[in-house]
Amino acid sequence: MSVNWNARFSTMARERLDSSFIAEMIKLVVENQAISFTAGEPSTELFPLEGLAASARNAFRNPDLFSYYPFDEGLLGLREWIVGWMRADGLLPEWVSAKNVFLTNGSQEGINLVTEALIDEGDLIALEDPTYPEAFLNFARQGARFVSAAVDKEGILPDSLEKVLRENRVKFLYTIVSFQNPRGCTAPTERRRQVLELCRKFDVVILEDDPYHYLRFEGDVPESYLRLAGDDARVLYLGSFSKIVAPGLRCGWVVAPPEIMSTLNHLRVSNVIGLPAFSQYILFDFLKDLDLAPYFEHLQKAYRTRRDALVAALERHVVPLGLSFDIPEGGFFLWGRIPGLNDMVRFARFAVETEKIGIIPGTIFFPTKGKGLDTIRFSFAKVTPEIAEEGALRLARALRTFTPGEA
Ligand code: PMP
Repeated sequence: MSVNWNARFSTMARERLDSSFIAEMIKLVVENQAISFTAGEPSTELFPLEGLAASARNAFRNPDLFSYYPFDEGLLGLREWIVGWMRADGLLPEWVSAKNVFLTNGSQEGINLVTEALIDEGDLIALEDPTYPEAFLNFARQGARFVSAAVDKEGILPDSLEKVLRENRVKFLYTIVSFQNPRGCTAPTERRRQVLELCRKFDVVILEDDPYHYLRFEGDVPESYLRLAGDDARVLYLGSFSKIVAPGLRCGWVVAPPEIMSTLNHLRVSNVIGLPAFSQYILFDFLKDLDLAPYFEHLQKAYRTRRDALVAALERHVVPLGLSFDIPEGGFFLWGRIPGLNDMVRFARFAVETEKIGIIPGTIFFPTKGKGLDTIRFSFAKVTPEIAEEGALRLARALRTFTPGEA
């Protein structure tokens, strides 16, 4: 071809884009027709399709939904519903109303809009180590650099964060507060208070990403950073319907103070004009009459059963080969380690190609290359008890036949 497109790429496209290893693994799983412990997305049989179909029919009675929707922030009814719901669950401080809720194309767009609103080239962002790669890949696109605080089973370690904030001028802290992706950990309220105090002390704002909040199987629900910060309003909160209704609807939201709302609006309009009000209406119409308690109990029960089955299957077949892991109280993920297996990325490719079992190597969740080389993330979201058993057997076989350094 005559045109050299590569020479015309922007610095961002040329130097700051990194492919998503999760997407690569999911592709390998499909190509190899493998069993998958990879996907951090809900099972299609748990989508409330009947209710959504009825709501979609109702949408067609509202021709206005098919015009440009007049509120750049998204469908007003759904924003009001979100406020009522979050308020009832004690997640909101006093100052929040529907004016502070900005609907997004999944929480990923919320991450992207906050990136565009706050990050300048060279800014330092504080992350949990490990954390969700699609967030730090997005921050990196804008030219961000990273500093990381260590986490344990209860989230960010305050001592580690204090050191990071003392030594660096950080733009914001990005934290996944409940059933963290990938580590499955949840910060209890006391830990959150300590982290918030540190952020106040060093005047750092918090990006609280909470897509797994309603997938709790056991234990207490801690307070959100958003609520704990109160009038201080130093928290931007990201929510999502992807894990609790269906990701293909592409609907999430940001809760933000007024100054940020207008910037989010300008960014949205200059990017995509607006989102489909149609999809937001389907959700709103479905949710507004829904009895939430049994709805969530059903989801929580299904995922609890899957977690328990995967835990039992791994304990039977893979723990004897050296695997250890933490058991999360909710969400989709188990985080494990196989000490001595330091090339998990090659092992993951080997396992999917030979034994047809997909897993995600934990190292890709660390923004600094070379960390967590012997770690592994399992998702139980789409894993029925039968699949858990078969998958664990295959993983054990792959471990027995894998030769580090040769495969
Ligand atoms: N944040 C976290 C922590 C996630 O795990 C995900 C999905 N994997 C997202 C954000 C994005 O989800 P969505 O855009 O579908 O809401």
